[in-house]
Amino acid sequence: MSYPVSFEFFPTKTPEGAAKHVAVRQALYVRKPQFCSVTYGAGGSTQAGTFTMVQDIQSEGVSAASHFSCIGATQDSVREELTQLKAMGVKRIVALRGDLPSGYGLGGAFHYASDLVAFVRQEFGDWFYIEVAAYPETHPQAKSPRSDLDAFVAKVRAGADSAITQYFYNADAYMRFVDEVKALGLDVPVVPGIMPITSSTQLMRFSDACGTEIPRWIRLRLQAYGDDTASIRAFGLDVVTHLCEQLRSQGAPGLHFYTMNQSVATLEICDRLGL
Ligand code: FAD
Repeated sequence: MSYPVSFEFFPTKTPEGAAKHVAVRQALYVRKPQFCSVTYGAGGSTQAGTFTMVQDIQSEGVSAASHFSCIGATQDSVREELTQLKAMGVKRIVALRGDLPSGYGLGGAFHYASDLVAFVRQEFGDWFYIEVAAYPETHPQAKSPRSDLDAFVAKVRAGADSAITQYFYNADAYMRFVDEVKALGLDVPVVPGIMPITSSTQLMRFSDACGTEIPRWIRLRLQAYGDDTASIRAFGLDVVTHLCEQLRSQGAPGLHFYTMNQSVATLEICDRLGL
């Protein structure tokens, strides 16, 4: 059997962007992804765009997963939107807490992703295959690595089937996280999230916000390349391909690519891995 890969997209904002994205998806479908997922802006800000792309992916004959964040939502709104996904034939969701922009309170019926997972199981039984987020380098708001692991366990015990990690460039952090999860008696697959490196400033900005460490040896080289995007891409391909090789050889159950709505870097990594 081929090694499982999945691809993540975000909803496009314009009709031109949507038209261009069709070609990106078609290029990636050649790799026979297990599923393609579409992000969902916290507070429901991208709901229409997310569901439209999910529907497009399904109608292209590929299994689609809708991300779904619960922060600030009511039980009624979550029930209504998930009923809509079910009616569309969507069977997989990525259940998240999400982040509201600063200034918003944390009101609403759901405080953590584990509350959402429990609610989905209670309301929809086993209809949805539920993915949750995992953080090998610890979620930035967690009180400690241990409390974050406990939060992950709570999501699995509430009914999650599988997990996708935040991206990272340190395979040891992932392996340790997986070992800790196993030691707690959970055998849920934890699929590493892979972020191809195509730009230096964008990567630094994202990583600061989501708590991913860019190892010093990578950061310094990226900074030294300055505006030389060809060198950044070449170096990024080497680093990320090597990371994927390590993860695969150490037993990672698949690879989930954060494509950033681009196909070139992800395809090149898949080529080099023979996927
Ligand atoms: P949770 O699992 O609820 O954890 C959030 C924080 O609360 C953590 O610090 C955790 O340790 C803590 N915590 C959890 N439970 C408890 C408890 N009972 N007591 C005390 N503390 C607790 N964001 C989007 O807006 N849209 C997306 O589409 C999206 N997709 C993502 C996909 C993946 C694979 C990943 C890894 C992240 C994604 N995110 C997305 C980002 C995510 O929404 C943020 O990281 C968010 O801050 C946390 O969401 P979560 O589901 O991991 O939250």
